[in-house]
Amino acid sequence: MNKDDVQRLSELIASRLDAAGGRAWLPTPVRPEPPGGPTPGALPAWSGAAQTLPDVAPIRRSAGSPHHRTEYPALVTAARQAAAARGPAPLPAGSKAGAGRAATARTPKEVAIGVSNRHLHVSQRDFATLFGAERSPTPQRPISQPGQYAASETVAVVGRGGRIEGVRIVGPARGQTQLELAPADCRTLGIQVPVRLSGRLEGSGGGVTLEGPAGKVTLEAGVIIAQRHLHVAPGDAKHLGVGDGDRVAVECGPAGRRVTLHDVLARMGPTHATELHLDTDEANAAQVKTGDRALIVATSHPGRPSGRRRPLLVERDVAELAARGESVTSGGPYLLTPAARDRAKALGIWREET
Ligand SMILES: [Zn+2]
Repeated sequence: MNKDDVQRLSELIASRLDAAGGRAWLPTPVRPEPPGGPTPGALPAWSGAAQTLPDVAPIRRSAGSPHHRTEYPALVTAARQAAAARGPAPLPAGSKAGAGRAATARTPKEVAIGVSNRHLHVSQRDFATLFGAERSPTPQRPISQPGQYAASETVAVVGRGGRIEGVRIVGPARGQTQLELAPADCRTLGIQVPVRLSGRLEGSGGGVTLEGPAGKVTLEAGVIIAQRHLHVAPGDAKHLGVGDGDRVAVECGPAGRRVTLHDVLARMGPTHATELHLDTDEANAAQVKTGDRALIVATSHPGRPSGRRRPLLVERDVAELAARGESVTSGGPYLLTPAARDRAKALGIWREET
């Protein structure tokens, strides 16, 4: 339809309105009387009082996201189960898809990102070999984790496939030398090393030589790709909902490059400052840099028994256990309502765990 067509159409409409003598051309709506006539004393059906809520305000379902809104009865059931510690919370804060996540809970918590470049933690002995001096690495600037610093000393790392110059030493000296590389570094060096958490070197890689100004050290072990991890200061644990040993998933990066990183191991301790540590490959993939923010989107507590949902026993459950001749222990893998505990005591099946 072009401009002229629109003009002709509007003229046509105007002429029809004139022909109708200025009256509205749609009939005035008339409210229909209900069939059979009104029952004496009863409100007419069209008053709305007789209608059920879904007729008035039907539940809207978006075709694009059928799981966005859980059906109300299902939501109530899930909330009750969550309250009884039998299942995950149906729609935790900040969640669009909290329902259906078995062992995780979504949380709207932000942490700062720290990108770790390849670096070397060095033992006192190896430092002496590389730099010919019985002293500690020279502090150049502090890094985010309290007590640690980037040293002014660097070494060259040589593998069978290549060489990387200027690998920074992070002080102070440690008990065992540990070289942390990004996967791309390993390709440069022509070596294959496993992903390990810093400080846990069982099964770590080797096959590289460190070259310092005074000497060389060949590493048979201690070379790792650092497991992505989240340092948690004890004061932040509660508000982040994360404890030592938890695994979290984080979302970070700008639109178009945004990623979710799983298997982020949380480490908590008095000497930790809250920060998400990624290596340069991870940071490049997500297009983030040190100081950017990441959002914790899920937390799981694989190691903590309290993280597994313990069933809640009510009086009836206790009665059933008694009928089966079983007892209830204070330290058992379940929670008891106070009434259930009293019932267990009354039935003589309560055992205080020693
Ligand atoms: Zn770290």
